[in-house]
Amino acid sequence: MASNLLHVLPPQGLLRPLAVPERLLLGPGPSNVPPRILAAGGRQLLGHMHPEVLQVMDDIKVGIQYAFQTQNQLTLAISGTGHCAMEAALLNLVEHGDTVLVAVNGIWGQRAADIARRLGASVHELLKPPGEYFPPWDIEEGLVRHKPSVLFITHGESSTGVLQPLEGLGKLCHRHGCLLLVDAVASLGGAPIFMDQQEIDILYSGSQKVLNAPPGSAPISFSERAREKILRRKTKPPSFYLDMRWLANYWGCDGEPRRYHHTAPINSFFSLREGLAMLAELGLENSWEHHRVNCAQLCQGLRDLGLELFVKEEKARLPTITTVRVPEGYDWKEITAFLMDNHAIEIAGGLGPSVGKVLRIGLMGCNSTSRNVDRVLHALRDALRCCRRSRL
Ligand code: PMP
Repeated sequence: MASNLLHVLPPQGLLRPLAVPERLLLGPGPSNVPPRILAAGGRQLLGHMHPEVLQVMDDIKVGIQYAFQTQNQLTLAISGTGHCAMEAALLNLVEHGDTVLVAVNGIWGQRAADIARRLGASVHELLKPPGEYFPPWDIEEGLVRHKPSVLFITHGESSTGVLQPLEGLGKLCHRHGCLLLVDAVASLGGAPIFMDQQEIDILYSGSQKVLNAPPGSAPISFSERAREKILRRKTKPPSFYLDMRWLANYWGCDGEPRRYHHTAPINSFFSLREGLAMLAELGLENSWEHHRVNCAQLCQGLRDLGLELFVKEEKARLPTITTVRVPEGYDWKEITAFLMDNHAIEIAGGLGPSVGKVLRIGLMGCNSTSRNVDRVLHALRDALRCCRRSRL
């Protein structure tokens, strides 16, 4: 029926079928989603308070406890991506005027500092050049000088490819009356982390990296110390959606009957459940070993191509994301575009402080295989041969 009531016509783009080409996602995330997890996300909806969905949430909770190696009761998945978990952690912990110390050696520390400042915290930054990590004595000096109530540090710095050693940091923080907040979005499942043994107070991750689920849900856990700090707040957290008291109830972590807080992204939870189930079936130690071995194969192959790894110390290399210097005379954008156009492989350039300096290659979860290492090395060899040496 012709009508002149509508001033905005049905958009032509939406009248075409959805286009989703096949691609191998070997950037810093998201990673490819295996059929089992895709199928879980494609299941029919149930109501968000139906017992079967609450059971899925309980399964997710124990799955996160396993992946984090924690017994914390306050363990759940945020309905949002990694940034949402970062905000949830900071806005529940930090009150106006609190002092926060942020270890900045890439973009994630920069972002955490930005969020903490927006919350009215007094923020101090510990700085390291991209590609380096923080030894404990630097952290201790910062704790002594600034007396923060929270220290933020990134376990897997995906913008630079650095793996931060965490051993002893929890104890150090606690000796100085400070809570330890760790970002493990890019490292969880790919490198060892032991929340309880390492005395980490708040740990969060994402769904779309090693867990191989679509983005949109983010595991997070709070130690008893962190929970007490939240309970002692003088003011309510400045977000209703991310208020941990509400979320604790919704996730059955407070012993009270569960109340509706928000409509959970149910299908994302189905996918996350399967991602965590696959990790549990494989076993954390096997997963860490796969990532270690495949990353080592990639690093050797990159060196054989004459490329220079960005992170000098082998033990400081993140097993999930490898950074390599952009080879002299090449434009990084041409290389990434060449891989995409000719090999249907995504790799990425730098991010934040590493822009223009590095290429980033991710091998996460089911994508961390020897075959994928061969594929990306073959594609890179091709790119080095074909891409114009623009600055020569
Ligand atoms: N922290 C780290 C270490 C990350 O790698 C990422 C994602 N690249 C984030 C936080 C943010 O996660 P998201 O993009 O899911 O919001």
